[in-house]
Amino acid sequence: MNVLFVIGTRPEAIKLAPIILECQQRGSFEVIVCSTGQHKELLDSAFEQWNIVPDIELAVMESGQGLNQLLSNLLRQLDKVISEVNPDCVVVQGDTSSCLAGALAAFHREIPVYHVEAGLRTYDKTAPFPEELNRQMVSRIADVHFAPTEKNKQALLMEGVAEKDILVTGNTVIDALMMCQKNLAPESNPEIQKLQRIYDPEKKLLLVTGHRRENMGAGFSELIEALRELASEPSIQVIYPLHMNPAVREPMIHALGNTEGIFLIEPLGYEAFVWLMSKSFLIISDSGGVQEEAPSLNKPVLVLREQTERQEAVEAGTVKLIGTLKEAVVQEVRELMVNKEAYLGMTQKSNPYGDGMAAKRIVDFLAASE
Ligand code: UDP
Repeated sequence: MNVLFVIGTRPEAIKLAPIILECQQRGSFEVIVCSTGQHKELLDSAFEQWNIVPDIELAVMESGQGLNQLLSNLLRQLDKVISEVNPDCVVVQGDTSSCLAGALAAFHREIPVYHVEAGLRTYDKTAPFPEELNRQMVSRIADVHFAPTEKNKQALLMEGVAEKDILVTGNTVIDALMMCQKNLAPESNPEIQKLQRIYDPEKKLLLVTGHRRENMGAGFSELIEALRELASEPSIQVIYPLHMNPAVREPMIHALGNTEGIFLIEPLGYEAFVWLMSKSFLIISDSGGVQEEAPSLNKPVLVLREQTERQEAVEAGTVKLIGTLKEAVVQEVRELMVNKEAYLGMTQKSNPYGDGMAAKRIVDFLAASE
């Protein structure tokens, strides 16, 4: 079976890596990995630790381009790839423009589409933007839907997807996390060596990530003020691996670049980021993947969003939606620092996103549909 994986960004690389590796191990698949170049550096760094090298590399990014231009570039270039490769199926992951374009280009060429991480919803098309609607549109296109949780399956059923086309698998990010923890070798990872020089075990580490479009501008200005205030406490250390997007990194570097107690660093490879999560006291983030990973590491996540398509984590109590207002961020962090019970209440839970076997379930399904 000839399987084409279309991948554009870091989370897609992290979450598809376990499926790609599982397919490669079984030997009965011809695996073709196409990187669209949407977030090239982050994707390459995520793949590096698993020795996955894209077979096809597109270059869809142009400076200053909007979402329409990005999508049309993706469609045009992916159409060429699909017509040349002529795969038996196309696998896409998540909710990015690359995911939507991969699904649509395959559909137009009458190639079956398999959607990994299907059925997550906020039902608010403004948040996450444009990802919520991307994911919904892919659900209209896909032939098979790999839903991480039962809740995701119910959303798809409610939208009229046939039950036979949905498989509940768990989220492959847990597979990636477990693979990474198993092989974690801090002494031979230069990024971790470098982190060890700034990480202060005597302090409480607040690990921050933030890159969502909805938070650009006002949201990040509030976060900047909150981090400045928190880092003024001697018992706190803030480490913030910045995203490559200049609209996020530039205001952060400008405002917090020389602030005592705050370390703005380059985005980390997955292994180093997992190591840093494991050292953190808590995580402040607007990332989707981090909300899924942190419960496995027993770390609370304060989510810089008003709503999330990862409701299972909110219900389990492992993440808390706090928005981006400075006062809320400062207050929630302080509360977890002094209230041990509240802290333990967010950390002593089992992870609702899976058991590390999602890729195996997905590849079993692919193998059975040959
Ligand atoms: N991550 C990483 N290095 C970093 C920051 C995050 O490898 O410096 C990982 C993180 O563990 C998670 C994924 O990247 O698996 C999240 O990616 P991102 O926040 O870009 O996207 P989202 O999850 O919001 O779609």
